[in-house]
Amino acid sequence: MLSSTALSSFGSAARLSARAHSFQPRRFLAQAAAASVPKKDSHPSSYKVVVVGGGSAGLAVASTLSRTLGDKAVAVVEPADVHYYQPLWTFVGGGLKPFEESKKPMKDVMPRKAQWIKEAVATFAPEENKVTLGNGETISYDYLVVAAGIQVNWDKIKNLPQALGKNGVTSNYSAQSVEKTDEFIKEFKGGNALFTMPPVPIKCAGAPQKIMYIAEELWRDANVRSKANIQYYTAGGAIFPVAKYANELLKICKKRDLGLNYFTNLTEIKPDSKEAVFDILAGEAKGTQVTMPYDFLHVVPPMSAPDFIKASPLSNADGWVDVNKETMRHTKFNNVYALGDCSSLPTSKTAAAITAQSGVLKTHLLHDIFGGEMSYPRKYDGYTSCPLITGTEKLILAEFSGYTLQPQETFPFDQSKERLSTYLLTKEIIPDIYWDSMLKGRWQGPAAYRKLLHAFSD
Ligand SMILES: Cc1cc2nc3c(=O)[nH]c(=O)nc-3n(C[C@H](O)[C@H](O)[C@H](O)COP(=O)(O)OP(=O)(O)OC[C@H]3O[C@@H](n4cnc5c(N)ncnc54)[C@H](O)[C@@H]3O)c2cc1C
Repeated sequence: MLSSTALSSFGSAARLSARAHSFQPRRFLAQAAAASVPKKDSHPSSYKVVVVGGGSAGLAVASTLSRTLGDKAVAVVEPADVHYYQPLWTFVGGGLKPFEESKKPMKDVMPRKAQWIKEAVATFAPEENKVTLGNGETISYDYLVVAAGIQVNWDKIKNLPQALGKNGVTSNYSAQSVEKTDEFIKEFKGGNALFTMPPVPIKCAGAPQKIMYIAEELWRDANVRSKANIQYYTAGGAIFPVAKYANELLKICKKRDLGLNYFTNLTEIKPDSKEAVFDILAGEAKGTQVTMPYDFLHVVPPMSAPDFIKASPLSNADGWVDVNKETMRHTKFNNVYALGDCSSLPTSKTAAAITAQSGVLKTHLLHDIFGGEMSYPRKYDGYTSCPLITGTEKLILAEFSGYTLQPQETFPFDQSKERLSTYLLTKEIIPDIYWDSMLKGRWQGPAAYRKLLHAFSD
């Protein structure tokens, strides 16, 4: 395929030769005027490193690489105007933080030395070291880092797009609806409150239940709890994948009378009758459906790899960018890496996981470029974290390896217990670490602190 640069130089040559034969003043003036308008977003068409996606993962990598490789050696292809710190949305939905604190203009977080290409990648051609953008332009690279996040499939639940944001139906998984959660929690006067969790993988698999704990406490404070039937519907067979934290969560659900419904998958909303329809995925009733009336419904839609990745040579059978789970290097294309939610890494998809992934990926990529002694860290061990907010002032700080499902706790105390300290850390300190350090490539997770703190405690 011809790039737009190639097309435009071909056009100039053709114009010159045509002009030599017959001079047409009107057309000449129109062409001259068009040529004098600066090309919107004009940028080079070739880079040392192209990063696809300016979310948590893309910027954590692009910032270090652009500082190291210098002006315009790194391009970030990112179509969005706004960058969101999505972990704050649980607090926003619970009315515990303003939505404004979760967002910044993309131009303010984009690394200064990187070239921001404000377009979406449409296709990959890894054999030719090229990506094609939505506008048809082709960009070439020496190295590619894919960090395009996960696709939230809102239309996979019948009627969800129409129902969302109205009559008690909400979701913390969208910038457009997250403030509705707070509104509908406050408006709730009793009845059935349903919280859903789709089949994994999704981003932050703890978030579907965190908002339930917050809502339950708020309804107790508002004296409507005795009129509320609170039910959690999960497509999975456990409340959490790590036994240590699951045990504590089960105790909390029992104590606070939160109903647990396993192997149930929301497939349809009937907004007129305010009913939610679930497929039963296991047990004697497998293959049947159950319909529940709702007064409040917090929905988490199913998610998948983005369609443009699924359709590319970079994907594995499930659609994710197929990378080595320790190095994040592509299994077929040596100069391609991926991290974060769009990658095949078999761990829980969180920003916390990306802190560790980004450090390892940069070690390998910089070693590819400069050679020499390889610095640390060299291997990603599946570290991830899920701050399980269990109320308006408490939290269980789950930290574990998604590869072994064993805890990897930073602090020298039992993190499976609900604590105010870890709640304040998550609500007030980690957002600053995110904006000031992680997005600037200077935070690679708490591994070093873990070693230090446990050296004193062991
Ligand atoms: C409600 C909620 C609560 C959460 N809570 C936590 C938590 O407590 N702790 C935690 O660690 N994590 C949490 N997460 C998960 C965390 O936000 C994600 O795991 C993280 O943002 C993933 O980073 P990413 O860079 O892979 O994807 P994203 O940050 O989603 O960024 C992907 C970027 O790629 C861009 N993009 C998409 N398509 C294209 C394309 N075709 N071309 C170019 N660019 C493209 C997008 O515009 C976007 O900017 C939560 C998420 C949600 C929604």
